[in-house]
Amino acid sequence: MTLHIPFDNSYAALPQGFYSRIAPTPVAAPALIAVNRDLAKQLRIDLPDDLAEIASIFSGNTLPDGAFPLAQLYAGHQFGQFNPQLGDGRAILLGETIGSDGMRRDIQLKGSGPTPYSRMGDGRAWLGPVLREYVVSEAMHALGVPTTRALAAVRTGEDIQRETLLPGAVLTRVASSHIRVGTFQIFAARRDGAALQQLYDYTKQRHYPDATDPADLLARVIERQAALVAHWMSLGFIHGVMNTDNCTLSGETIDYGPCAFMDSYDPQTVFSSIDRFGRYGYAAQADIIVWNMAQLATALIPLMPDPEAAVERFTAQVHAMPDLIRAEYESRFAAKIGISALRPGDSALVTDLLTRMHAQQADFTNTFRALADGDARDQFTDPAAFETWASGWTQRLAQEPDPKELMRRTNPVVIPRNHRIEQMIAAAVAGDDAPFHRLNQVLATPFADNPETADLRRPPDVSEVVPATFCGT
Ligand code: AMP
Ligand code: MG
Repeated sequence: MTLHIPFDNSYAALPQGFYSRIAPTPVAAPALIAVNRDLAKQLRIDLPDDLAEIASIFSGNTLPDGAFPLAQLYAGHQFGQFNPQLGDGRAILLGETIGSDGMRRDIQLKGSGPTPYSRMGDGRAWLGPVLREYVVSEAMHALGVPTTRALAAVRTGEDIQRETLLPGAVLTRVASSHIRVGTFQIFAARRDGAALQQLYDYTKQRHYPDATDPADLLARVIERQAALVAHWMSLGFIHGVMNTDNCTLSGETIDYGPCAFMDSYDPQTVFSSIDRFGRYGYAAQADIIVWNMAQLATALIPLMPDPEAAVERFTAQVHAMPDLIRAEYESRFAAKIGISALRPGDSALVTDLLTRMHAQQADFTNTFRALADGDARDQFTDPAAFETWASGWTQRLAQEPDPKELMRRTNPVVIPRNHRIEQMIAAAVAGDDAPFHRLNQVLATPFADNPETADLRRPPDVSEVVPATFCGT
């Protein structure tokens, strides 16, 4: 059996100006690290027994039948500065498949060599970010968060130059699409109304077939992004680089660069080494997604028959977004403390708990999980701070049908903690992939209690704390 991918390519049918046709650059010695068999099955990909053949395809060394390799063009605001031309500088779309669930998905290689959009970059990725994205994106999926997924990771057998020489790797990423806010921005900035209209038609057909006009499409994207960011926050997730080119129209999380989950709760937490002003810090995410949607709205204006009226309408839509995020956030956090339907006073109860957690540097994930398990007081240096809060909480829970069940299904036991990711990467660089495989296995069921995973639940000790994360480009 040879590896067969049932391609059904649609982006390739868009005009030439949307992308550059470019093949992956072969690598010296592809060696498979992992292939996601469940996902392959969902994509209706037949995997052969021969691992070398799988590695050859997912390193870019062999182009599968029916692939139409291309690098997509887009622009984007990076830390608030508009860059009029970005594009896939180290990624190549092989094509799309229609899965067993009827969904169309992109299959993309990341780290597969230079493209016309590589600028000064080498088009490559090193092993660290490839494994980080594999583990974290799959964990996010298991946590129920809309996200791109990881289909395969392959070592290239080549070292690449970063600050030091590091082992190269290629990630195969799967996404509902790679259409970004920045994809709309590039055609709007170029005043290419025809391309903008084609992109709108394509996006509508692919993601929002019921959308009645660009305003309606904007409303739906706003809804999904509001839900997404509130979901991230409910898990202590910090994306780290919410540039408009890393913000999808589909509402999926994309581009796991300097992302991290916070350990002890602090709304100001920032991990990314390049985010010096905390633009993309934990709590700031709720503001910046609104800013990003304002950029999408701006790019959609030329599509409206009456631009002046559109400005007014879009402004109102964007201004309504913070309330949408707040509602999503409040109901997610209420569920985390066992409340199934919000009543007056519930949000204050959540805020009070978070304030106490912050003051006591309580671990975010473990404190919420411990609420269900009845031992949350141990997460506080001063248990009295918890007990004062808990008396009101216990009274409120008396009116809930099954708060423990709700808490156990909303508060994960294990998350991909940053120090475990760093340790896993260090091991893989030294040739030991066991920690990578273990993380994937454990994180596939993040809500399950399992005594064997106690080490992965533990917050970092002082020597393990990871103060900063890097984009890995
Ligand atoms: P990111 O911060 O990962 O979203 O990337 C921002 C832009 O830089 C995108 O256009 C990437 O394709 C490009 N880029 C990042 N790393 C590389 C690389 N190693 N070689 C070429 N382009 C890159
Ligand atoms: Mg990006």
